[in-house]
Amino acid sequence: MFDLGGVGDAALIEALRAATRAEAVAAAQRWAIIAALVDWHCKDEDEARASAALDGWEYAAAEISAACGLSREAAAGQMRIALALRDRLPKVGALLEHGEISAKTAAAITWRTRLVTDTEALALIDAALAGVAPTLGVLSQKNTETAIDVWIEKFDPVAVHCARTAARSRCIEFGAQEDPAGTVAVWGRLLATDAAVLRARLTALAATVCEADPRTVGQRRADAMGLLAVDPNAERLTCLCGEPGCPAAGVDPRSAAVTVYVLTDTVPGAAADTPRDPGVHGDGLQALRGPAAVTGTPGVIPGGGVVPAPLVAELVATGARVTTLADTNDLTAEPRYRPSAKLAAWVRTRDLTCTFPGCHRGAQYCDLDHSVPWPGGATHPGNLAALCRTHHLLKTFGGWSAVQHPDGTHTWTNPSGHTYTTVPLTRILFPDKSIHTPAPPPTPAATGSGSGVGGRGLAMPRRRRTRAYTHAARINAERRLNQHTLEQHAKPPPF
Ligand SMILES: [Zn+2]
Ligand SMILES: [Zn+2]
Repeated sequence: MFDLGGVGDAALIEALRAATRAEAVAAAQRWAIIAALVDWHCKDEDEARASAALDGWEYAAAEISAACGLSREAAAGQMRIALALRDRLPKVGALLEHGEISAKTAAAITWRTRLVTDTEALALIDAALAGVAPTLGVLSQKNTETAIDVWIEKFDPVAVHCARTAARSRCIEFGAQEDPAGTVAVWGRLLATDAAVLRARLTALAATVCEADPRTVGQRRADAMGLLAVDPNAERLTCLCGEPGCPAAGVDPRSAAVTVYVLTDTVPGAAADTPRDPGVHGDGLQALRGPAAVTGTPGVIPGGGVVPAPLVAELVATGARVTTLADTNDLTAEPRYRPSAKLAAWVRTRDLTCTFPGCHRGAQYCDLDHSVPWPGGATHPGNLAALCRTHHLLKTFGGWSAVQHPDGTHTWTNPSGHTYTTVPLTRILFPDKSIHTPAPPPTPAATGSGSGVGGRGLAMPRRRRTRAYTHAARINAERRLNQHTLEQHAKPPPF
């Protein structure tokens, strides 16, 4: 790509500085384009369009998702930054345009100032931040935020992104970017009372196994959490000691509640005699029995992502239902609009996510759309695709169209004629598995427009309140809470 052989370190540093600057300039251009696209879709929006589930913002988000390879949420984040830099913080925007600050700093400023509603205060903050922003790039993230907040505090104290009061910050989140296959990070903040009850319950369950159980207390608490989700009244955790006489052994209710889909023709793993994988539970007693004889194949749990082969074998051994996906030859056209459970499972497992470009919504939360509208297009794997509700609406009402190919890929065409190709995740994860399913040729009934039968039963949902209204209300609500906090702090102590 670049030939940097023999370049001295001073020249490399010069080049690096220039490239960093160019990156900032490019980011400014990118956001300027995004802001223009938002305008194009949202300007002159009438009441009817602003109240539809697919409002201008949603159309713009779809275009930006597809063009930038971003999820819908990530695209929306980019749109907020782009508009703020252009409309709310033009001086800071100009610095970015000249490569004087990094995209990261610019984004942080737009986020921290999002609660400022007064235009005069906003102009003062923009000018002040433009003065200091070039020095922010070298500060740590925390220091950058503090430096930004100082100016907001000066001109619009109610807008300072308050450290939320503890009770307001409670949440439970699932999944982190770096989750390894087979596990999902769960994190959050509970009310102290709820946490105490949960902790006591999990710890009590964790203590119900015999002492030969190979898991750590933490692992047993994690498993107890899964158990409670399956059976809130559970009284004991299934012991994994493997001793025949253990009173706590048995079928694990957690596994019984799971269906694993495997992209193979045979159920992996034997029954109860499958050795447990020491890699899953630590190297307690199990390790002494040698590694698990895992010959299986990875599986897929709807909503749980990819399950590594050792875990599939273990789930099978402890009672999980395993559904091998039918051979593609067994999948025929079904004479109904609604696909059978078997066909639906196959399509969802093949697609794993919504098939719109950039969208990663899990297929289990998606509609199954007939690519060529029923009844002209068959209820057949080669003509069915997972689409989240937003992108289903976009295809039905929004002028986007998709052609499904026999290997499950889709060619999407937007209203302006740009095309994007999406590949089903399964083809990437399990390249050996044949997912080739050519659909029978469409019958003439299919030649109607996409908004007809393709959207069968699908009407454009209306918003109770427009997006602009909701956005403003959310900002005002946060400002009110901040105001309240400030007033509480200003009160004299009660003594
Ligand atoms: Zn035991
Ligand atoms: Zn989608």
